[in-house]
Amino acid sequence: MHVAKEILLEVFGFQAFRGPQQAVVEHVGAGGDALVLMPTGGGKSLCYQIPAIARQRAGQGTTVVISPLIALMHDQVGALHEAGVSAAFLNSTLSMDEAAQIERQMVRGELTLLYAAPERVTTARFLAQLDAMQQRGKLSLFAIDEVHCVSQWGHDFRPEYRALTVLHERYPSVPRVALTATADAQTREDIVERLQLQDARTFVSSFDRPNIRYTIVEKNDATAQLLRFIRGEHDGDAGIVYCQSRKRVEEIAQTLCQQGFDALPYHAGLDATVRQKNQDRFLRDEGVVMVATIAFGMGIDKPDVRFVAHLDMPKNIEAYYQETGRAGRDATAADAWMAYGLQDVVNQRRMIDESPAGDDFKQVMRGKLDALLGLAEATDCRRVRLLLYFGESYSGLSRDGVAACGNCDNCLFPPEVWDATDAARKLLSTIYRVQQSSGISFGAGHIMDIVRGKATEKVMQHGHLELSTFGIGAAFSEQQLRAVLRQLVAVDAVAVDAQAFNTLRLTQASRAVLRGEMLVQLRDAVAPPALGKGRPRAGSGRTPAVARAPLPLDSAAQLRYAALREWRAEVARSHNLPAYVIFHDTTLAAIAQRAPHSLDDLQGISGIGARKLEAYGDAVLQVLGT
Ligand code: ADP
Ligand code: ZN
Repeated sequence: MHVAKEILLEVFGFQAFRGPQQAVVEHVGAGGDALVLMPTGGGKSLCYQIPAIARQRAGQGTTVVISPLIALMHDQVGALHEAGVSAAFLNSTLSMDEAAQIERQMVRGELTLLYAAPERVTTARFLAQLDAMQQRGKLSLFAIDEVHCVSQWGHDFRPEYRALTVLHERYPSVPRVALTATADAQTREDIVERLQLQDARTFVSSFDRPNIRYTIVEKNDATAQLLRFIRGEHDGDAGIVYCQSRKRVEEIAQTLCQQGFDALPYHAGLDATVRQKNQDRFLRDEGVVMVATIAFGMGIDKPDVRFVAHLDMPKNIEAYYQETGRAGRDATAADAWMAYGLQDVVNQRRMIDESPAGDDFKQVMRGKLDALLGLAEATDCRRVRLLLYFGESYSGLSRDGVAACGNCDNCLFPPEVWDATDAARKLLSTIYRVQQSSGISFGAGHIMDIVRGKATEKVMQHGHLELSTFGIGAAFSEQQLRAVLRQLVAVDAVAVDAQAFNTLRLTQASRAVLRGEMLVQLRDAVAPPALGKGRPRAGSGRTPAVARAPLPLDSAAQLRYAALREWRAEVARSHNLPAYVIFHDTTLAAIAQRAPHSLDDLQGISGIGARKLEAYGDAVLQVLGT
């Protein structure tokens, strides 16, 4: 058997590599540089951990992992210890003595993996230690995680990452593996250039996450919609709710708590210790809902996050995909749910316009936003569009000869599409006439009132009762007109002037619609589909939902599963680690299903490596009463 496969099975208890893992591991293990692009949850960690183990076994010393996430290093290293791998981190949470001891181990090349943040790695002190390691032939490999942080096109730009070029310049013979879940071409080119990875081999895996179901609903009462979604689909599940502002995070977290959910806030305005405490609870406890700004989530490798909800739209598809990708890393069913409305479009446009960046940069950002708007407005398969954005064509199921995934809202509940061109023209000509007659622009509410023929005070005051377009769209509901407007703004056929009370103006593209050269197709929003037919549903009372196993289990196996989870919770507590670091739900469910009677029976279950079998095998059998 190949060394890499052997390590995969022995250390991690996994039977097979995923996607390009094996190719990466072999290339890097043999000393090549690599740039690895895999979606969140795709399995990037093994791409450097297995070469690190293989090279250490061959006497080549320590792999230095550069990770931006000090707060997560403890758990990452804890997970490696559980698998029997010698690893440590160096960061500000250690005492001087602890740090000194780890530095000694590192310099002697005794550790297999050493985690540190870029700020530390590029200090004179750390570089001197790396020099010493290299002199002894014990500097094995550099793994640069979350490498998109080096690029301003990525969404987590960290200037410290730029200084990492020193690694290549100072240690040209030490191989580097750089990893990210951000795959757009611009960011990729930037990474290669910034870190001088021109000679690295690039490995790209499929970006499809088939177990994630994508849903984008029209926003009307976001809080109520969110509550309905969580109650209906994910009672008792762990999830993340993303909001734009700190204030909104606080409000939503509070509302969820009032409704009986175990929800916590997370944003950059919170005290660092509170943030850390909330993050730990999310990772360690069952069924916590984290309500957060985008400050939360990078590097979170909790495998059983069952949903990611967006109450506000992110700024581009990369961000959306990375955030939603945090759901369902354990490859069992999970939801990516977003509520989206006109205000989202307006806000995102305004943030770009008002940013101090140069025009070129703004132009790129606008293009990226437009791609996300296209996804939100789409009436065809969301997954096909997402993958296309990442340069991948979907080869899955097909409906009427059209590529379709069968696991997004548009595939599951094909929307009725109506031709909204007429409504669009009525709105546009009203905007035009109002501007002509009054010499100033007005906002969406007023324009819709005129189109629908509502003689409000403001309409009368400005003499808009006399306009030829007054009441021409009386047949449309306000919700319909709002949807039309949103799409017009999304395709830039209406501009919203943020500097002037969000008033509406015509644009270049308005003419195409007015002349009938551009059709406006809209989903019928009257009855947004209910989701999740046939899934077990919790009642309306908030008795904590019983944990759903990721496998279908008979009732005896259910009992075994519950007992195993209880046992795991205790072990995790005493090791001060999240439960999934001991065993994943999927592993416990597989054990429960197999009903093992001996250590031999436990062998070959995914997630049980040699060390875990030795450490926990007997205890597991005891829990099962065998
Ligand atoms: P990423 O860093 O790319 O987001 P991770 O490295 O955290 O993803 O892996 C995601 C999950 O998939 C982890 O729980 C990991 O244990 C699991 N995993 C990775 N590779 C394999 C494999 N070859 N077989 C089974 N499980 C795997
Ligand atoms: Zn689909």
